[in-house]
Amino acid sequence: MIAKPAIAPADGPPSRRGRFAPSPTGPLHFGSLLAALASCCDARHAGGQWLVRIEDVDVPRSRPGAASAILAALERYGFVWDGPVLRQSERTALYAEALDRLVAAGNAYPCACTRRELESAPLGAGGERVYPGTCRNGVPAAHRGRGQRAWRAAVGDGSSPVEYVDRLAGRVAQDLVRDVGDFVVKRADGLFAYQLAVVVDDAQAGITDVVRGADLAASTARQVFLQRRLGFPTPSYLHVPVAVDASGVKLSKSTHACALPDDPLPALLAAWRFLGQPLPSGSAAPASVAEFWAFAVAAWSPSRLPPGPTLVAAAAFDPRSTGPV
Ligand code: GLU
Repeated sequence: MIAKPAIAPADGPPSRRGRFAPSPTGPLHFGSLLAALASCCDARHAGGQWLVRIEDVDVPRSRPGAASAILAALERYGFVWDGPVLRQSERTALYAEALDRLVAAGNAYPCACTRRELESAPLGAGGERVYPGTCRNGVPAAHRGRGQRAWRAAVGDGSSPVEYVDRLAGRVAQDLVRDVGDFVVKRADGLFAYQLAVVVDDAQAGITDVVRGADLAASTARQVFLQRRLGFPTPSYLHVPVAVDASGVKLSKSTHACALPDDPLPALLAAWRFLGQPLPSGSAAPASVAEFWAFAVAAWSPSRLPPGPTLVAAAAFDPRSTGPV
């Protein structure tokens, strides 16, 4: 069922284009509502477009029915997106072309290391294993019999960290050589990695503004790096605080955060407040979903976003909490 548009789609070519890109690993939950709400308000407030892309590139992690459940929940919550919903699982030819370009320019190479071999690699600043470069100059003779190959982007000599500007955090620099090493763009199981898919998709859709959870900020330098290698423009980035439970664990589908309630208004208002956005002063809070959207699109103010990558969500949206709602 197509919900009645709560927001009129923008006419003509937009100066701003945002997107929401959920992975269909479970239902929409409070954590993903925050990213959806922030990205949608940010694009609509500027008179721009807002797209939805289902990030099902990781086929084994995608759950049957999750994509349609997420889209149905978005509609019920009054979200209206522009254009067709893109699905990464239908776009592998584009990712293959991008990988070919990286390989042809010497920016990606095959890797035959096993997961186990990399378990002892040193940890980078963000807690990830830094690839030691074993296959960078060719798969070592001892590994040549191995059939399965991942493909890694070569991050170079580390002479210059990757820099980008986050609209909330300001200038960010990450030394990929020190913190990440050559990273996977196509997995040994043949699936393209999120990092490559998201860069191709954002560029191809003409996304100008990426607004998403701060947990993804750790990926941004990798994505900016790939954009530069592929000659794509770099969108502007805004990473919004991530909802965590009382013990600091992110509310996510993988921690079994519960689906959003059927009644959209309380959850929308809670998400709005979580994002540091005030309710109307001197007048009543929006009383319907349509009223909420009219108010939220006009009032959105990213400068009010709370600083810091995480914030504890209200007990009502923390499925493990037994506390009062
Ligand atoms: N698919 C990612 C997720 O659900 C979001 C990716 C992005 O916004 O870049 O967490």
